[in-house]
Amino acid sequence: MSRVAFDTFQNVIDGKLVSTTNTRHGINPARLEELPSVPVSSQDDVQAAVNAARRAATSWATVPLQERQQRVVQLADALVSQKEEFANMLTLEQGKPLSAAAGEVATAAGFLKGIAKLGLPDTIVVDNEEQRITTRYVPVGVCVGIVPWNFPITTISFKLGLALVAGNPIVLKPSPFTPYCGLKVVELAQQFFPPGVVQVLSGDDNLGPWLTAHPGVDKVSFTGSAQTGIKVMKSCAATLKRVTLELGGNDPAVVCADVDISTVAAKVATLALYNSGQVCVAIKRIYVHSSIYDEFLEAMLAAIKKMAVGDGLDSGSFLGPVQNKMQYEKIMNLFHSIQEDGLNVTTPHPEKTFSNKSGYYINPVVVTNPPDTSRIVQEEPFGPIFPVMKWDTEEEVIQRANDSRDGLGASVWTNSPTQADRIATQLQAGTVWINTHSQIQPDVAFGGHKQSGIGTELGIEGLKAYCNVQTIHQKKSGSKL
Ligand code: NAD
Repeated sequence: MSRVAFDTFQNVIDGKLVSTTNTRHGINPARLEELPSVPVSSQDDVQAAVNAARRAATSWATVPLQERQQRVVQLADALVSQKEEFANMLTLEQGKPLSAAAGEVATAAGFLKGIAKLGLPDTIVVDNEEQRITTRYVPVGVCVGIVPWNFPITTISFKLGLALVAGNPIVLKPSPFTPYCGLKVVELAQQFFPPGVVQVLSGDDNLGPWLTAHPGVDKVSFTGSAQTGIKVMKSCAATLKRVTLELGGNDPAVVCADVDISTVAAKVATLALYNSGQVCVAIKRIYVHSSIYDEFLEAMLAAIKKMAVGDGLDSGSFLGPVQNKMQYEKIMNLFHSIQEDGLNVTTPHPEKTFSNKSGYYINPVVVTNPPDTSRIVQEEPFGPIFPVMKWDTEEEVIQRANDSRDGLGASVWTNSPTQADRIATQLQAGTVWINTHSQIQPDVAFGGHKQSGIGTELGIEGLKAYCNVQTIHQKKSGSKL
């Protein structure tokens, strides 16, 4: 197994490392320093990658499932064998603390291995004297995977694993904010897959639209914001591409009166602030039963105070900077509108909330009891800022939790299994957790309701999304028709 070096960063097209005439560079959000140059792909690069993928598609589809699965496992092992280098690069480009970056590399490898255990055997639906009817799942064709900047390696691992196990080639497009690890994962993959099966293109804002519009692409799996998801779907509609959309969320957590306050408050705060709140399934609205509200809030603020904000390369940092200037300014704008509206703001850290002298650092902000109509309740901030509200009756909190155009995740926190079940089954979300949040795994379907997405990724349902369904309808000799 050969290792990849993290000094130069190139596209991978048809099994080869390819440079581009134009280049750009990412920014380390902790220090505002330029990172190495990365390719800016042209339309010719897109054409070359799609051509190579189409050439590779037929033979890759005939590689037996077991071998496809084995190669995905080999890639996972190779990723783990370079865990430190990937984690270091991930911290530099994304900002998350080194321990969290190492966790992301291990998680991505775990997802690849878990996905490699999935398979889609043929189903015999009818078998009698007259006929035999079988349902098969055949590869959908050339796939494109477009990913965001919050979990650049994990989101790539989902799409890559599912496409390859299902028998498809895939062209990956990392976010322009975090292109580095994605380029290296695909470079590493070349030793396990034939040319054209796994490719990667880095680029500017033109690249995504070129890929989604290309008639040689059969399926697009997109993870990102709802706003962009709508554009992706419109573009894919022109050639009736298959589309999976994994979009934003505004997840509510409903905390009931009977919880162990200090333990649950610390867990809920961590699940709201992990990765500086830049998690699609972070807790983004907290509803606490009024009988424990004050005590719960106090325990949560005490837990947040212990979460050090700083450069991900410093071992003491629990929260890194937010990933980019656009996100930093978006949160600052939200914070100012909260102040203008006169809402109650608590900042557990003594330092200034915003200071971008050396990086995009934001100290956590808790907004207490804002109105349900306020921006902080209605919008997905995608940063270390969240509201904590009071509730009194189950009926009322369920209605308020569901009063969102998003429906990605939700959670209920209680020691009563009956109350948990009663509330959980009424929440409108793709995943409802009980006494936890944000947990996803390779064998379990993951997707959003409402404007949080279309279709699912992961699990058997996720694998089926990378296939076309084919019916084989066989008349038996001697049948009447
Ligand atoms: P984004 O929509 O701005 O960008 C996502 C990707 O789409 C990037 O690679 C970007 O370059 C590309 N892109 C931009 N315009 C495009 C276009 N017109 N056509 C094709 N591609 C285009 O999202 P972001 O800011 O990178 O990510 C944050 C959002 O992603 C949040 O809303 C978050 O909740 C969501 N997210 C969802 C999941 C999930 O699984 N549901 C996971 C992670 C993040």
